[in-house]
Amino acid sequence: IYHASVATVWGEEYPIGKVCVLQDITHYKQLDALKSEFVATVSHDLRSPLTLIRGYATMLQMIGDLNEQQQGYLQKMVSGIENMTRLVNNLLDLGRIEAGIELKLENLDPAEVVSQVIAQLQPQAAQKSIEIQSEFHLPEGLVLRADPDLLKQALLNLVDNAIKYTRLHGGVWVSATCENERVVFAVRDNGIGIAPLDLPRLFEKFYRSGRREAHEQRGTGLGLAIVKSIVERHHGRVWVESQLGKGSVFYIELPLDPEKAESLV
Ligand code: ADP
Repeated sequence: IYHASVATVWGEEYPIGKVCVLQDITHYKQLDALKSEFVATVSHDLRSPLTLIRGYATMLQMIGDLNEQQQGYLQKMVSGIENMTRLVNNLLDLGRIEAGIELKLENLDPAEVVSQVIAQLQPQAAQKSIEIQSEFHLPEGLVLRADPDLLKQALLNLVDNAIKYTRLHGGVWVSATCENERVVFAVRDNGIGIAPLDLPRLFEKFYRSGRREAHEQRGTGLGLAIVKSIVERHHGRVWVESQLGKGSVFYIELPLDPEKAESLV
């Protein structure tokens, strides 16, 4: 397996040639496959003991006659377990999607999907006094062919981030529009924004911004990698526009029918 990069060589005023570099990446691809297999197996085996530990920790919390210090230690354990469970679940999701699970395509109403996602995240938004608003510009009776669970998960990750990375009393806006046989979902927030340096790497696995404001929030750095895999499985595109300190907009563009569409990537 080769990776090709082509560059134009410029003379004083006009191009004088092209250089093509072919790199043998067979080894990296094999390593990547091994890594995915390893991650899938390990994360699966981690889930059962985690459930067990969590169960007993919760039971201990309910016993009631623990002193304040003991309760404090227990609380730390429970929140550590919760973080790890989140990580393992994210790894399993990503593994499943990357392994090429078959899409269960259904006829969907994009507005309905957005409304369900907003309803699910309403409690989280309310905790930070954030209002989520939605807006739709869709022709009557429009049908989007997509896997409902995966599409919902992609939008959930984006709206969840919008809430997470926005300050108290902020705002989140979700819209769906249709143009040229494609539906574009936009998730906008007026939160902390993203530094230009972080932008190109945001969709990489495990990438998290090093900024203090962003790092204060819990996360695994896998949410956007999951969004990207889901969207690309549907032959769509995902991208972001952001201004530091002002807010961000994440876009998902999907063909109305992925089976008919050539990849837009
Ligand atoms: P996580 O949120 O678990 O760290 P993600 O893959 O969902 O992982 O996001 C990667 C990084 O992108 C985050 O750590 C954060 O720095 C940045 N990010 C994502 N969404 C937003 C947003 N709406 N506003 C500001 N930064 C964001």
